[in-house]
Amino acid sequence: MSENIAKSLDYDVLVVGGGMVGASFALALAESGLRIAVVDSQDLSKFAGQERAKESFDPRVSAITPSSQAFLESLAVWQGVRNRRCAPYSDMHVWDADGTGSIHFNAQEIHAAALGHIVENSVILAALYERIAETANIDLLAPVALHALEAGSHKERVNITLEDGRSISAALLVAADGANSKVRELAGFQTKEWDYEHQAIVCTVKTQLPHGATAIQRFMDEGTLAFLPLQQNSELVDTQQHCSIVWSVLPDYAQRLMAMDDSAFAIQLQAAIENKLGKIERLDTRYSFPLRQRHAVDYVQPGIALIGDAAHTIHPLAGQGVNLGFLDAQALAEEVQRTHSKHLPIGDLRFLRRYQRRRIGHNLGMMWVMEGFKRLFADQPLPLRWLRNAGMSGIDRSAIIKHQLMRSAMGME
Ligand SMILES: Cc1cc2nc3c(=O)[nH]c(=O)nc-3n(C[C@H](O)[C@H](O)[C@H](O)COP(=O)(O)OP(=O)(O)OC[C@H]3O[C@@H](n4cnc5c(N)ncnc54)[C@H](O)[C@@H]3O)c2cc1C
Repeated sequence: MSENIAKSLDYDVLVVGGGMVGASFALALAESGLRIAVVDSQDLSKFAGQERAKESFDPRVSAITPSSQAFLESLAVWQGVRNRRCAPYSDMHVWDADGTGSIHFNAQEIHAAALGHIVENSVILAALYERIAETANIDLLAPVALHALEAGSHKERVNITLEDGRSISAALLVAADGANSKVRELAGFQTKEWDYEHQAIVCTVKTQLPHGATAIQRFMDEGTLAFLPLQQNSELVDTQQHCSIVWSVLPDYAQRLMAMDDSAFAIQLQAAIENKLGKIERLDTRYSFPLRQRHAVDYVQPGIALIGDAAHTIHPLAGQGVNLGFLDAQALAEEVQRTHSKHLPIGDLRFLRRYQRRRIGHNLGMMWVMEGFKRLFADQPLPLRWLRNAGMSGIDRSAIIKHQLMRSAMGME
Protein backbone atom coordinates (compact mmCIF):
# COMPACT_ATOMS: atom_id res chain seq x y z
CA MET A 1 0.00 0.00 0.00
CA SER A 2 1.54 3.33 -1.05
CA GLU A 3 1.83 6.07 1.58
CA ASN A 4 2.06 8.96 -0.86
CA ILE A 5 -1.53 9.21 -1.92
CA ALA A 6 -2.24 12.91 -1.77
CA LYS A 7 -0.20 13.95 -4.83
CA SER A 8 -1.21 11.22 -7.21
CA LEU A 9 -4.84 11.59 -8.18
CA ASP A 10 -4.78 9.76 -11.49
CA TYR A 11 -5.37 6.04 -11.38
CA ASP A 12 -6.03 3.23 -13.78
CA VAL A 13 -8.84 1.87 -11.63
CA LEU A 14 -10.80 3.64 -8.94
CA VAL A 15 -12.94 1.50 -6.64
CA VAL A 16 -15.62 3.44 -4.75
CA GLY A 17 -16.59 1.36 -1.73
CA GLY A 18 -14.05 -0.74 0.14
CA GLY A 19 -16.49 -3.25 1.67
CA MET A 20 -15.92 -6.98 1.28
CA VAL A 21 -16.64 -6.91 -2.46
CA GLY A 22 -14.71 -3.74 -3.39
CA ALA A 23 -11.65 -4.74 -1.34
CA SER A 24 -11.60 -8.27 -2.80
CA PHE A 25 -11.91 -6.84 -6.33
CA ALA A 26 -8.93 -4.51 -5.74
CA LEU A 27 -6.82 -7.44 -4.52
CA ALA A 28 -7.93 -9.69 -7.38
CA LEU A 29 -6.78 -7.05 -9.86
CA ALA A 30 -3.55 -6.12 -8.07
CA GLU A 31 -1.39 -8.65 -9.94
CA SER A 32 -2.09 -6.83 -13.21
CA GLY A 33 0.18 -4.01 -12.01
CA LEU A 34 -2.58 -1.45 -12.70
CA ARG A 35 -2.62 1.49 -10.28
CA ILE A 36 -5.67 1.12 -8.09
CA ALA A 37 -7.30 3.39 -5.49
CA VAL A 38 -10.03 2.38 -3.05
CA VAL A 39 -12.22 5.20 -1.71
CA ASP A 40 -14.47 4.62 1.29
CA SER A 41 -16.50 6.87 3.56
CA GLN A 42 -15.67 4.77 6.61
CA ASP A 43 -12.31 4.59 8.34
CA LEU A 44 -10.72 1.47 6.84
CA SER A 45 -7.68 1.59 9.15
CA LYS A 46 -9.86 0.10 11.89
CA PHE A 47 -9.87 -3.17 9.91
CA ALA A 48 -6.20 -3.08 8.91
CA GLY A 49 -5.16 -2.90 12.57
CA GLN A 50 -7.37 -5.78 13.73
CA GLU A 51 -4.89 -8.64 14.08
CA ARG A 52 -7.19 -10.79 16.17
CA ALA A 53 -10.93 -11.14 16.29
CA LYS A 54 -12.54 -9.08 19.04
CA GLU A 55 -13.72 -10.94 22.12
CA SER A 56 -17.38 -10.27 21.37
CA PHE A 57 -18.87 -11.39 18.06
CA ASP A 58 -19.66 -8.91 15.29
CA PRO A 59 -23.47 -8.86 14.75
CA ARG A 60 -23.04 -8.93 10.95
CA VAL A 61 -21.95 -12.32 9.66
CA SER A 62 -21.93 -14.04 6.28
CA ALA A 63 -22.34 -17.67 5.32
CA ILE A 64 -19.33 -18.12 3.06
CA THR A 65 -19.65 -20.82 0.41
CA PRO A 66 -16.75 -23.14 -0.55
CA SER A 67 -16.58 -21.25 -3.86
CA SER A 68 -16.08 -17.90 -2.06
CA GLN A 69 -13.57 -19.60 0.24
CA ALA A 70 -11.59 -20.71 -2.83
CA PHE A 71 -11.65 -17.13 -4.17
CA LEU A 72 -10.36 -15.77 -0.83
CA GLU A 73 -7.71 -18.53 -0.80
CA SER A 74 -6.56 -17.40 -4.26
CA LEU A 75 -6.10 -13.89 -2.83
CA ALA A 76 -4.12 -15.27 0.17
CA VAL A 77 -6.86 -13.89 2.43
CA TRP A 78 -8.50 -17.06 3.73
CA GLN A 79 -5.60 -17.89 6.07
CA GLY A 80 -6.11 -14.45 7.65
CA VAL A 81 -9.79 -15.34 8.17
CA ARG A 82 -8.88 -18.68 9.76
CA ASN A 83 -6.26 -17.06 11.99
CA ARG A 84 -8.91 -14.75 13.37
CA ARG A 85 -12.13 -16.74 13.68
CA CYS A 86 -14.62 -18.64 11.53
CA ALA A 87 -17.09 -21.46 12.12
CA PRO A 88 -17.37 -24.35 9.66
CA TYR A 89 -20.83 -25.89 9.51
CA SER A 90 -21.37 -29.44 8.36
CA ASP A 91 -25.16 -29.59 8.54
CA MET A 92 -28.15 -27.48 7.76
CA HIS A 93 -31.69 -28.16 8.90
CA VAL A 94 -34.58 -26.25 7.32
CA TRP A 95 -38.18 -26.79 8.29
CA ASP A 96 -41.62 -25.35 7.92
CA ALA A 97 -43.40 -23.99 10.98
CA ASP A 98 -46.90 -25.22 10.35
CA GLY A 99 -46.43 -28.49 8.59
CA THR A 100 -44.36 -31.57 8.39
CA GLY A 101 -41.97 -30.36 5.69
CA SER A 102 -38.29 -30.44 6.52
CA ILE A 103 -34.94 -30.87 4.78
CA HIS A 104 -31.63 -31.89 6.28
CA PHE A 105 -28.41 -31.20 4.39
CA ASN A 106 -25.17 -32.87 5.42
CA ALA A 107 -21.75 -32.13 3.90
CA GLN A 108 -20.64 -35.78 3.99
CA GLU A 109 -23.46 -36.74 1.63
CA ILE A 110 -21.58 -34.95 -1.14
CA HIS A 111 -18.14 -35.79 0.25
CA ALA A 112 -17.42 -32.21 1.33
CA ALA A 113 -15.66 -31.23 4.55
CA ALA A 114 -18.21 -28.48 5.28
CA LEU A 115 -21.23 -26.83 3.68
CA GLY A 116 -19.58 -23.47 4.34
CA HIS A 117 -18.28 -21.21 7.08
CA ILE A 118 -20.04 -18.56 9.13
CA VAL A 119 -17.65 -15.61 9.25
CA GLU A 120 -18.06 -12.21 10.83
CA ASN A 121 -17.95 -9.46 8.18
CA SER A 122 -15.35 -7.56 10.25
CA VAL A 123 -13.10 -10.66 10.21
CA ILE A 124 -13.27 -10.87 6.39
CA LEU A 125 -12.52 -7.14 6.13
CA ALA A 126 -9.58 -7.39 8.57
CA ALA A 127 -8.06 -10.24 6.54
CA LEU A 128 -8.59 -8.36 3.25
CA TYR A 129 -7.02 -5.16 4.58
CA GLU A 130 -4.08 -7.09 6.03
CA ARG A 131 -3.28 -8.22 2.46
CA ILE A 132 -4.01 -4.80 0.94
CA ALA A 133 -1.50 -3.25 3.36
CA GLU A 134 1.17 -5.47 1.75
CA THR A 135 0.15 -4.57 -1.81
CA ALA A 136 2.15 -1.73 -3.37
CA ASN A 137 -0.24 -0.73 -6.16
CA ILE A 138 -3.38 -0.22 -4.05
CA ASP A 139 -3.90 3.17 -2.36
CA LEU A 140 -6.57 3.72 0.27
CA LEU A 141 -8.40 7.03 0.37
CA ALA A 142 -10.54 6.89 3.52
CA PRO A 143 -12.51 8.07 5.33
CA VAL A 144 -13.91 10.27 2.59
CA ALA A 145 -17.15 9.99 0.62
CA LEU A 146 -17.78 10.39 -3.07
CA HIS A 147 -19.35 13.75 -3.87
CA ALA A 148 -19.73 14.11 -7.65
CA LEU A 149 -19.10 12.17 -10.81
CA GLU A 150 -18.42 13.14 -14.38
CA ALA A 151 -18.52 10.46 -17.07
CA GLY A 152 -19.99 9.84 -20.50
CA SER A 153 -19.46 7.93 -23.70
CA HIS A 154 -17.36 10.72 -25.25
CA LYS A 155 -14.88 10.77 -22.34
CA GLU A 156 -11.84 8.56 -22.10
CA ARG A 157 -11.58 8.89 -18.35
CA VAL A 158 -14.06 9.12 -15.51
CA ASN A 159 -13.60 12.01 -13.09
CA ILE A 160 -14.91 12.11 -9.56
CA THR A 161 -14.82 14.65 -6.77
CA LEU A 162 -14.54 13.64 -3.15
CA GLU A 163 -16.27 15.41 -0.30
CA ASP A 164 -12.93 16.83 0.89
CA GLY A 165 -12.62 18.63 -2.49
CA ARG A 166 -9.99 16.34 -4.10
CA SER A 167 -10.70 15.20 -7.63
CA ILE A 168 -9.55 11.91 -9.12
CA SER A 169 -9.53 10.62 -12.65
CA ALA A 170 -9.40 6.97 -13.71
CA ALA A 171 -9.77 4.85 -16.83
CA LEU A 172 -12.27 2.64 -14.99
CA LEU A 173 -14.54 3.42 -12.05
CA VAL A 174 -15.83 0.39 -10.16
CA ALA A 175 -18.86 0.99 -7.97
CA ALA A 176 -18.77 -1.29 -4.93
CA ASP A 177 -20.53 1.22 -2.69
CA GLY A 178 -23.32 -1.07 -1.56
CA ALA A 179 -27.10 -1.24 -1.81
CA ASN A 180 -27.65 2.54 -1.87
CA SER A 181 -24.81 3.14 -4.34
CA LYS A 182 -24.17 6.80 -4.99
CA VAL A 183 -22.16 5.99 -8.12
CA ARG A 184 -25.17 4.10 -9.50
CA GLU A 185 -27.41 7.08 -8.78
CA LEU A 186 -25.03 9.76 -10.11
CA ALA A 187 -24.27 7.81 -13.28
CA GLY A 188 -28.00 7.27 -13.91
CA PHE A 189 -28.08 3.46 -13.91
CA GLN A 190 -31.68 2.20 -14.00
CA THR A 191 -32.77 -0.30 -11.36
CA LYS A 192 -35.73 -2.57 -10.78
CA GLU A 193 -36.60 -2.71 -7.13
CA TRP A 194 -39.28 -3.89 -4.80
CA ASP A 195 -39.77 -3.90 -1.10
CA TYR A 196 -39.75 -7.28 0.61
CA GLU A 197 -41.95 -5.74 3.29
CA HIS A 198 -39.63 -7.39 5.74
CA GLN A 199 -37.13 -6.17 8.31
CA ALA A 200 -34.18 -8.33 9.30
CA ILE A 201 -33.23 -8.40 12.97
CA VAL A 202 -29.72 -9.61 13.70
CA CYS A 203 -27.90 -10.30 16.95
CA THR A 204 -25.58 -12.76 18.67
CA VAL A 205 -27.09 -15.15 21.20
CA LYS A 206 -25.80 -17.70 23.66
CA THR A 207 -27.94 -20.83 23.84
CA GLN A 208 -28.29 -23.50 26.50
CA LEU A 209 -27.65 -26.37 24.05
CA PRO A 210 -24.71 -26.65 21.61
CA HIS A 211 -25.42 -25.93 17.94
CA GLY A 212 -23.44 -28.96 16.78
CA ALA A 213 -21.98 -27.09 13.77
CA THR A 214 -25.50 -27.02 12.29
CA ALA A 215 -27.20 -24.01 10.73
CA ILE A 216 -30.93 -24.13 11.38
CA GLN A 217 -33.68 -22.19 9.67
CA ARG A 218 -37.40 -22.15 10.31
CA PHE A 219 -39.88 -20.84 7.75
CA MET A 220 -43.00 -19.23 9.18
CA ASP A 221 -45.93 -17.42 7.63
CA GLU A 222 -44.61 -14.16 9.02
CA GLY A 223 -41.00 -14.65 7.94
CA THR A 224 -37.89 -16.77 8.45
CA LEU A 225 -35.54 -17.27 11.37
CA ALA A 226 -31.99 -18.60 11.05
CA PHE A 227 -29.53 -19.59 13.78
CA LEU A 228 -26.02 -19.57 12.31
CA PRO A 229 -23.33 -21.34 14.36
CA LEU A 230 -20.36 -19.34 15.66
CA GLN A 231 -17.06 -20.55 17.08
CA GLN A 232 -15.01 -19.04 19.90
CA ASN A 233 -11.40 -17.87 19.50
CA SER A 234 -9.04 -20.84 19.46
CA GLU A 235 -7.67 -20.01 22.93
CA LEU A 236 -11.13 -20.22 24.51
CA VAL A 237 -12.91 -23.51 25.08
CA ASP A 238 -15.62 -23.63 22.43
CA THR A 239 -18.84 -24.97 23.86
CA GLN A 240 -20.67 -24.37 20.55
CA GLN A 241 -23.22 -22.22 22.34
CA HIS A 242 -22.99 -19.02 20.29
CA CYS A 243 -25.09 -18.31 17.22
CA SER A 244 -25.79 -15.32 15.06
CA ILE A 245 -29.49 -14.97 14.38
CA VAL A 246 -31.14 -13.45 11.30
CA TRP A 247 -34.87 -13.06 11.86
CA SER A 248 -36.76 -11.54 8.96
CA VAL A 249 -40.32 -10.46 9.76
CA LEU A 250 -43.02 -7.97 8.78
CA PRO A 251 -42.14 -4.38 9.78
CA ASP A 252 -44.84 -4.09 12.49
CA TYR A 253 -43.70 -7.24 14.20
CA ALA A 254 -40.05 -6.19 13.82
CA GLN A 255 -40.84 -2.94 15.58
CA ARG A 256 -42.48 -4.78 18.46
CA LEU A 257 -39.58 -7.22 18.72
CA MET A 258 -37.04 -4.38 18.71
CA ALA A 259 -38.96 -2.55 21.44
CA MET A 260 -38.97 -5.57 23.81
CA ASP A 261 -36.49 -5.90 26.63
CA ASP A 262 -33.95 -8.71 26.36
CA SER A 263 -35.84 -11.26 28.42
CA ALA A 264 -39.13 -10.76 26.52
CA PHE A 265 -37.28 -10.95 23.19
CA ALA A 266 -35.45 -14.12 24.31
CA ILE A 267 -38.78 -15.81 25.10
CA GLN A 268 -40.18 -14.92 21.65
CA LEU A 269 -36.98 -16.11 19.96
CA GLN A 270 -36.91 -19.39 21.85
CA ALA A 271 -40.51 -20.10 20.88
CA ALA A 272 -39.95 -19.09 17.25
CA ILE A 273 -37.13 -21.63 16.89
CA GLU A 274 -39.25 -24.25 18.68
CA ASN A 275 -36.81 -24.51 21.60
CA LYS A 276 -34.38 -26.43 19.38
CA LEU A 277 -31.36 -25.02 21.24
CA GLY A 278 -32.93 -24.80 24.68
CA LYS A 279 -33.03 -21.59 26.64
CA ILE A 280 -31.61 -18.36 25.15
CA GLU A 281 -29.14 -17.59 27.93
CA ARG A 282 -27.74 -14.29 26.65
CA LEU A 283 -28.35 -11.73 23.90
CA ASP A 284 -26.10 -9.04 22.47
CA THR A 285 -27.39 -5.75 21.02
CA ARG A 286 -30.07 -6.19 18.36
CA TYR A 287 -29.88 -4.38 14.99
CA SER A 288 -32.56 -4.19 12.34
CA PHE A 289 -32.30 -3.64 8.57
CA PRO A 290 -35.06 -3.00 6.02
CA LEU A 291 -34.95 -5.60 3.23
CA ARG A 292 -35.31 -4.45 -0.32
CA GLN A 293 -34.63 -6.42 -3.47
CA ARG A 294 -32.90 -4.38 -6.14
CA HIS A 295 -31.28 -5.17 -9.45
CA ALA A 296 -29.55 -2.82 -11.89
CA VAL A 297 -30.85 -3.21 -15.44
CA ASP A 298 -27.27 -2.85 -16.71
CA TYR A 299 -24.06 -3.37 -14.74
CA VAL A 300 -21.85 -1.33 -17.07
CA GLN A 301 -21.56 2.02 -18.84
CA PRO A 302 -18.51 3.43 -20.64
CA GLY A 303 -15.79 3.59 -17.96
CA ILE A 304 -18.04 2.35 -15.10
CA ALA A 305 -18.93 -1.09 -13.71
CA LEU A 306 -21.19 -2.01 -10.79
CA ILE A 307 -20.35 -4.97 -8.54
CA GLY A 308 -21.77 -6.54 -5.37
CA ASP A 309 -24.73 -4.95 -3.65
CA ALA A 310 -24.38 -1.88 -5.90
CA ALA A 311 -25.52 -4.15 -8.75
CA HIS A 312 -27.96 -6.39 -6.84
CA THR A 313 -29.36 -6.78 -3.34
CA ILE A 314 -31.01 -10.03 -2.43
CA HIS A 315 -33.01 -11.39 0.53
CA PRO A 316 -30.60 -12.75 3.16
CA LEU A 317 -32.58 -15.96 3.68
CA ALA A 318 -30.22 -18.05 1.56
CA GLY A 319 -27.08 -16.17 2.64
CA GLN A 320 -25.99 -15.53 -0.96
CA GLY A 321 -25.46 -11.73 -1.12
CA VAL A 322 -21.76 -11.41 -0.58
CA ASN A 323 -21.10 -14.71 -2.32
CA LEU A 324 -22.65 -13.31 -5.51
CA GLY A 325 -20.59 -10.15 -4.97
CA PHE A 326 -17.35 -12.17 -4.76
CA LEU A 327 -18.25 -13.87 -8.05
CA ASP A 328 -18.77 -10.40 -9.62
CA ALA A 329 -15.41 -9.22 -8.26
CA GLN A 330 -13.64 -12.26 -9.63
CA ALA A 331 -15.28 -12.03 -13.08
CA LEU A 332 -14.66 -8.29 -13.47
CA ALA A 333 -11.02 -8.58 -12.36
CA GLU A 334 -10.47 -11.36 -14.92
CA GLU A 335 -12.06 -9.36 -17.73
CA VAL A 336 -10.12 -6.17 -16.89
CA GLN A 337 -6.84 -8.14 -16.75
CA ARG A 338 -7.63 -9.76 -20.09
CA THR A 339 -8.31 -6.37 -21.72
CA HIS A 340 -5.24 -4.80 -20.13
CA SER A 341 -2.94 -7.65 -21.18
CA LYS A 342 -3.97 -6.99 -24.80
CA HIS A 343 -3.14 -3.26 -24.36
CA LEU A 344 -6.76 -2.35 -25.00
CA PRO A 345 -8.66 0.40 -23.09
CA ILE A 346 -10.00 -1.10 -19.84
CA GLY A 347 -12.98 1.28 -19.67
CA ASP A 348 -14.23 0.42 -23.16
CA LEU A 349 -17.87 -0.69 -23.03
CA ARG A 350 -17.31 -3.59 -25.44
CA PHE A 351 -14.96 -5.26 -22.94
CA LEU A 352 -16.95 -4.34 -19.86
CA ARG A 353 -20.00 -5.99 -21.42
CA ARG A 354 -18.21 -9.33 -21.18
CA TYR A 355 -18.31 -8.98 -17.42
CA GLN A 356 -22.02 -8.14 -17.54
CA ARG A 357 -22.75 -11.17 -19.73
CA ARG A 358 -20.88 -13.46 -17.34
CA ARG A 359 -22.74 -12.30 -14.23
CA ILE A 360 -26.19 -10.88 -14.93
CA GLY A 361 -28.02 -14.15 -15.70
CA HIS A 362 -26.62 -15.95 -12.67
CA ASN A 363 -27.43 -13.09 -10.28
CA LEU A 364 -30.96 -12.70 -11.65
CA GLY A 365 -31.53 -16.46 -11.44
CA MET A 366 -30.57 -16.50 -7.77
CA MET A 367 -32.79 -13.49 -7.06
CA TRP A 368 -35.80 -15.19 -8.64
CA VAL A 369 -35.21 -18.34 -6.64
CA MET A 370 -35.19 -16.25 -3.44
CA GLU A 371 -38.31 -14.37 -4.49
CA GLY A 372 -40.04 -17.69 -5.21
CA PHE A 373 -39.05 -19.02 -1.78
CA LYS A 374 -40.29 -15.89 -0.08
CA ARG A 375 -43.65 -16.10 -1.85
CA LEU A 376 -44.00 -19.82 -1.26
CA PHE A 377 -43.53 -19.32 2.45
CA ALA A 378 -45.67 -16.20 2.75
CA ASP A 379 -49.21 -16.78 4.05
CA GLN A 380 -50.73 -19.23 1.55
CA PRO A 381 -54.01 -21.11 1.08
CA LEU A 382 -54.04 -24.57 2.67
CA PRO A 383 -53.57 -26.67 -0.52
CA LEU A 384 -50.43 -24.69 -1.34
CA ARG A 385 -49.09 -25.30 2.16
CA TRP A 386 -49.62 -29.04 1.79
CA LEU A 387 -47.91 -28.90 -1.56
CA ARG A 388 -44.90 -27.04 -0.24
CA ASN A 389 -44.59 -29.34 2.79
CA ALA A 390 -44.84 -32.38 0.55
CA GLY A 391 -42.28 -30.71 -1.75
CA MET A 392 -39.83 -30.13 1.09
CA SER A 393 -40.10 -33.67 2.37
CA GLY A 394 -39.92 -34.97 -1.20
CA ILE A 395 -36.66 -33.09 -1.75
CA ASP A 396 -35.36 -34.49 1.53
CA ARG A 397 -36.02 -38.02 0.28
CA SER A 398 -34.57 -37.47 -3.19
CA ALA A 399 -30.78 -37.67 -2.95
CA ILE A 400 -30.33 -36.42 -6.54
CA ILE A 401 -32.34 -33.20 -6.11
CA LYS A 402 -30.97 -32.60 -2.64
CA HIS A 403 -27.34 -32.99 -3.68
CA GLN A 404 -27.93 -30.73 -6.68
CA LEU A 405 -29.45 -28.07 -4.39
CA MET A 406 -26.50 -28.34 -2.00
CA ARG A 407 -23.92 -27.99 -4.76
CA SER A 408 -25.60 -24.95 -6.23
CA ALA A 409 -26.03 -23.25 -2.80
CA MET A 410 -22.34 -23.95 -2.14
CA GLY A 411 -21.41 -22.20 -5.39
CA MET A 412 -20.01 -25.46 -6.81
CA GLU A 413 -22.19 -25.41 -9.96
C1 LIG B 1 -29.28 -9.11 7.79
C2 LIG B 1 -28.41 -9.50 6.64
C3 LIG B 1 -27.77 -10.76 6.64
C4 LIG B 1 -26.97 -11.14 5.58
N1 LIG B 1 -26.38 -12.39 5.56
C5 LIG B 1 -25.63 -12.77 4.51
C6 LIG B 1 -25.03 -14.08 4.45
O1 LIG B 1 -25.16 -14.92 5.35
N2 LIG B 1 -24.27 -14.41 3.35
C7 LIG B 1 -24.12 -13.53 2.33
O2 LIG B 1 -23.45 -13.87 1.33
N3 LIG B 1 -24.65 -12.28 2.35
C8 LIG B 1 -25.41 -11.89 3.41
N4 LIG B 1 -25.96 -10.65 3.43
C9 LIG B 1 -25.68 -9.72 2.33
C10 LIG B 1 -24.29 -9.12 2.45
O3 LIG B 1 -24.13 -8.53 3.74
C11 LIG B 1 -24.07 -8.10 1.36
O4 LIG B 1 -24.36 -8.71 0.12
C12 LIG B 1 -22.62 -7.59 1.36
O5 LIG B 1 -22.31 -6.92 2.55
C13 LIG B 1 -22.41 -6.64 0.18
O6 LIG B 1 -21.06 -6.25 0.16
P1 LIG B 1 -20.61 -4.99 -0.69
O7 LIG B 1 -19.14 -4.88 -0.46
O8 LIG B 1 -21.14 -5.07 -2.06
O9 LIG B 1 -21.37 -3.76 -0.02
P2 LIG B 1 -21.24 -3.17 1.45
O10 LIG B 1 -20.86 -4.21 2.42
O11 LIG B 1 -22.50 -2.40 1.69
O12 LIG B 1 -20.02 -2.14 1.33
C14 LIG B 1 -20.16 -0.89 0.69
C15 LIG B 1 -19.00 0.01 1.08
O13 LIG B 1 -19.12 1.26 0.36
C16 LIG B 1 -18.90 2.34 1.24
N5 LIG B 1 -19.64 3.50 0.72
C17 LIG B 1 -20.98 3.63 0.62
N6 LIG B 1 -21.30 4.82 0.06
C18 LIG B 1 -20.13 5.45 -0.20
C19 LIG B 1 -19.80 6.73 -0.76
N7 LIG B 1 -20.75 7.58 -1.18
N8 LIG B 1 -18.50 7.07 -0.87
C20 LIG B 1 -17.53 6.21 -0.44
N9 LIG B 1 -17.80 5.00 0.10
C21 LIG B 1 -19.07 4.62 0.22
C22 LIG B 1 -19.39 1.85 2.61
O14 LIG B 1 -18.76 2.54 3.67
C23 LIG B 1 -18.99 0.36 2.58
O15 LIG B 1 -17.70 0.13 3.10
C24 LIG B 1 -26.78 -10.25 4.48
C25 LIG B 1 -27.38 -8.98 4.48
C26 LIG B 1 -28.20 -8.62 5.55
C27 LIG B 1 -28.89 -7.25 5.54
